[in-house]
Amino acid sequence: MKAIRGATTLVSDTAEEVRKKVGEMLLQIVSENKLNMSDIICIMLSSTSDIHSIYPAKAAREAGFSSCPLYSSLEPDMDGSLALCVRAMLLVETDKPVKHVYLHKAKALRKDIASVINIAIDGPAGSGKSTVAAIIAEKLDILSLDTGAMYRATALKCLKSGIDYAEKDQVKHAVENINLRVEYKDGKQLTLLDGEDVSGEIRTPQISMLSSYVSSYPFVRDKMVQIQRRIASEVSCVLDGRDIGTNVLPDCPFKFYLTATPEVRAERRFEQDKIKGTSQTYEQILEEINERDKQDKNRAVAPLKCAADATVIDTSYMTIEEVVAQILAKIQEKI
Ligand code: C5P
Repeated sequence: MKAIRGATTLVSDTAEEVRKKVGEMLLQIVSENKLNMSDIICIMLSSTSDIHSIYPAKAAREAGFSSCPLYSSLEPDMDGSLALCVRAMLLVETDKPVKHVYLHKAKALRKDIASVINIAIDGPAGSGKSTVAAIIAEKLDILSLDTGAMYRATALKCLKSGIDYAEKDQVKHAVENINLRVEYKDGKQLTLLDGEDVSGEIRTPQISMLSSYVSSYPFVRDKMVQIQRRIASEVSCVLDGRDIGTNVLPDCPFKFYLTATPEVRAERRFEQDKIKGTSQTYEQILEEINERDKQDKNRAVAPLKCAADATVIDTSYMTIEEVVAQILAKIQEKI
């Protein structure tokens, strides 16, 4: 059983306004938490002493919440409290993390509850962050933004333009003219470069190394970070990368840093590649992982680093399900 909080304010003390605002708040709680009426165990409502027109519980019943016990109470008068305010607490049966709903002037009561939720998952190559990010996003019904794919697409752009990626000015020119878009199809991220879906093409060992190289240019990072921040401000999403918690979203309330030994990470990549039919040996993958770690950790701008306020999870001997469960439990603890 979980508790969901809600609050709203009225513009006037009329029965019609109480019905409208209580109905709006409860329906929004139901839709944001994807609840069925049968999931609601009971609803408790309280109102400030300036509301006399109708019991909020009666308004809730009239709004269709008639299959569970309802209860209304009066709040004590407090100096400086909101006027014409109705608060709700719903006890519900749900496995998902709950979303609380604060509407109208009541938004000011919980500034910590933003309408957009972002979750940052950073870590080195092969730590499991993209897989975990995609599962968490699916469970929370939000998007997953694989920021590595954006650096990979930038590397592919350089490769396709035939430029020397060690030549800063040539890379700068290519990046200035890049047409990079991220779209979603059936909840899955597609990375589009110049209008073409390159989601598969960017997953080669050559692009892995090249992306790590081009991502060290500050102008490349500026461009990518700008796009990532815009997406994160518009939609709730799990962002996975190297610098999300430290640089892209330093104020993000949910930060995780996944790590694993280079040997375990190389073994995972080797097993994944075997399924895909690619031919790198375990030793080659391990060397590439070590080389990429070195480049990513030692670059001057936004290096791969654990944010001071991130939860560190060593995934070396954990299953994906265990990592997902630990992250969800941590998120739940905070909301
Ligand atoms: O995560 P993935 O292995 O796909 O990332 C490819 C490369 O992109 C990384 O090695 C890293 O150099 C770069 N990257 C980055 N910052 C991010 C995500 C990826 O520098 N937020």
